[in-house]
Amino acid sequence: MVRISELEEYASKNNVPIMLPDGIEFLCNYIKENNVKTILEIGTAIGYSAIKMALVDKNIKVITIERDSERYNMAIQNIKDFGLENQITVILDDAFNVDLTQSFDLIFIDAAKSQYIKFFEKFKVNLKKTGVFISDNLDFHGLVKSEEIIESRNVRGIVRKLRNYIEFLENNKEFKTTFYSIGDGIGVSKWQS
Ligand code: SAH
Ligand code: MG
Repeated sequence: MVRISELEEYASKNNVPIMLPDGIEFLCNYIKENNVKTILEIGTAIGYSAIKMALVDKNIKVITIERDSERYNMAIQNIKDFGLENQITVILDDAFNVDLTQSFDLIFIDAAKSQYIKFFEKFKVNLKKTGVFISDNLDFHGLVKSEEIIESRNVRGIVRKLRNYIEFLENNKEFKTTFYSIGDGIGVSKWQS
């Protein structure tokens, strides 16, 4: 796939949960305006957000982690099709098995929604003091803020974990988080100064 719109179409047809249009636009603007150059992404899927972020500037480097080998293979192919192999490195593994020594300007959390606190705690050693965590899907289709009874046990679990994560961010002594109702809900967390 050589066009962004093809990736979007593929994701929509195959239920790959890529970032929503205004969410990815917000993320790319943040990267541009804050001169972000080094990015760690947890949750590659087919490489859509990694490709969009890398396209902001040719000096941007992205490391992205995906545990599903089918999606990993698609991401590798897509990144090749866009000629971005020298900007994007994809790691095939569970993020909890990956230990990195680099520090990043931005760590983008967009993998299993029930594990956000654990991703945050694990990877904060890799975040520069001037860096930020950005977390996606904090609204989870509007369910996180709604009072409605959720039928599916699975979805109920995810929503409960996301509410815990938001509370964790709100009460965090080390980080200050701003929440945005953009896309599927985005949090931007900076070290407290
Ligand atoms: N950031 C992508 C979408 C990611 S979807 C985009 O916007 O284009 C979330 C992905 O995270 C899924 O492909 C899933 O397989 C992966 N994932 C979930 N938990 C993970 C984990 N613990 N380690 C690595 N990848 C994980
Ligand atoms: Mg997402």
